[in-house]
Amino acid sequence: MRRDPLDVPRAGPAGGREPLEIVAPGRPLPHMLHALCRYLESASADWERREAELRRSEAFLAQAQRLTRTGSLWWKPSTGEIAWSDGNYRLMGYPVGITPTVEMAMERCHPDDLPRVQETLAAAVRDGAGAEFEHRLLMPDGSVKHVRVVFQSVGTPGDPEFIGAATDITEWKRAEEGLRRSEAYLAEAQRLSSTGNFGWSAGGGRHVWSDETFRIFGLDRSAPVTRRAILERVHPEELDTVRELIARAEEGQDVDQEFRLLLPDGETRHVHVVAHGVRDRDGRLEVVGAIRDVTGERRSEEALGGLRSELARVAGVAGLGALAASIAHEVGQPLSGVVTSASTCLRMLAREPADVEGARRTARRAIRDADRAAGVIAGVRALLAGRPPAAEPVDLNAATREVAALSRGELQRGRAALRLELAGDLPPVAGDRVQLQQVVSNLLRNAVEAMGGVEDRPRQVVVRTALGEDGSVCLSVKDSGVGFEPGEAGRLFDAFYTTKPDGMGIGLAVSRSIVESHGGRLRAAPNDGPGATFAFSLPPFPGTAG
Ligand code: ADP
Repeated sequence: MRRDPLDVPRAGPAGGREPLEIVAPGRPLPHMLHALCRYLESASADWERREAELRRSEAFLAQAQRLTRTGSLWWKPSTGEIAWSDGNYRLMGYPVGITPTVEMAMERCHPDDLPRVQETLAAAVRDGAGAEFEHRLLMPDGSVKHVRVVFQSVGTPGDPEFIGAATDITEWKRAEEGLRRSEAYLAEAQRLSSTGNFGWSAGGGRHVWSDETFRIFGLDRSAPVTRRAILERVHPEELDTVRELIARAEEGQDVDQEFRLLLPDGETRHVHVVAHGVRDRDGRLEVVGAIRDVTGERRSEEALGGLRSELARVAGVAGLGALAASIAHEVGQPLSGVVTSASTCLRMLAREPADVEGARRTARRAIRDADRAAGVIAGVRALLAGRPPAAEPVDLNAATREVAALSRGELQRGRAALRLELAGDLPPVAGDRVQLQQVVSNLLRNAVEAMGGVEDRPRQVVVRTALGEDGSVCLSVKDSGVGFEPGEAGRLFDAFYTTKPDGMGIGLAVSRSIVESHGGRLRAAPNDGPGATFAFSLPPFPGTAG
């Protein structure tokens, strides 16, 4: 049987040898002497074997103590006797072999810890019980060691005797302190950046949250985190979005989304969540992510958005006034020319005889003036579309992201959720970035307005980009709004066509002009379900098609 190296062999009463039956009545003396010799020989061999085993065990024990930085000790308070293993001498910083005393141990104890250690030892002696405690040693070179002491009483209650072990735990303490410090740094960094971490195992496992995540959700750190507690903090209008988000994350998809929380005191918080799934060693999916409180940013954007739309309205009104004045001026002149020519023409025809040739000339003049008026109208249309587009490479995804960021306030006011599904690796298109952004912004605004009265389904806009089969770049804006009748699609793009009480009916006309001046096409179609989709496609920037 293999013996545990630390298991010191215990000597039985006869060490496994035959009991000594040497002296027996009637046995001859030589026999008795012979038996005695055999017994002594076997006893001596037995002791040698035991001593060797003991030495081996001691060596194992010393080695184990060295490796674990542990020393063992024995102490009998009533006599003051004390014994240390080599490990204990090393731990205490004394030369191995000198006679140890309790005072020597107390001398090493850190002065700040001494009263507590003395009290603990006094209580152990008084109660005859064991003890377990940690304290510091102040070494002669000024260094400090942390030790953990465990001992138990093996004596009688009135006369206790202790055996125990002291372990150097300085390294653990340092590691623990380092860990605590980096946790504190992390918590501080999270607080400063208003970013928290979270994680949960898919299928309803435990949630792990950082302090900052608790703060963002306004939940108490001691409260258990449950799916229900989380959803209770989500703004009611965003519940569907967040549920879908959780489902997507638990399917292992990446998540990158903003939504709002509604705290019990009525405060709304805007948060941006990024999460993705990771598989643990057993193949179970865990969702890990970060959540950032972006309320401050959204508030200032909202304020900026308000200013911007007010500015746009003022500019629009001013622009429209200027436009009307210019139309009145430019069209007024040829029109009065037409009227003058027409009355001259009538007068000439009324003469006796009729001046047919003169009438023909003035009629031609009337036609020329009418052509001029038509030209002005065509010019106004061109003006509405803005200046001729520049032909620079435009990243439509980036341009769309910018529009989405700027439209956030408008989306929120319309209680609409926006999802961007932007294709990767799109070639740039050739054109004027600002004008193309104007188109996306018009389509987005119309989508939000079309969902204004929708209460029975989520108000959702999806802006998607894709690469067309012919290499063109397509962008579509799909909403869940009121939609339109299939036969109406053509009219929507007519200038001044509007179904809105305060609409101007210019947005789609301008958008179509812009897209067409970029060599593309803008179309509208009702969705299979509720809502409509507006889409355009543009040729790629020359030489970049993949
Ligand atoms: P306005 O928004 O001022 O009415 P537009 O030219 O942008 O001018 O739009 C013209 C009309 O087209 C709108 O009044 C509306 O009837 C229709 N329309 C535009 N976008 C949508 C949409 N997403 N869903 C349904 N109808 C729309």
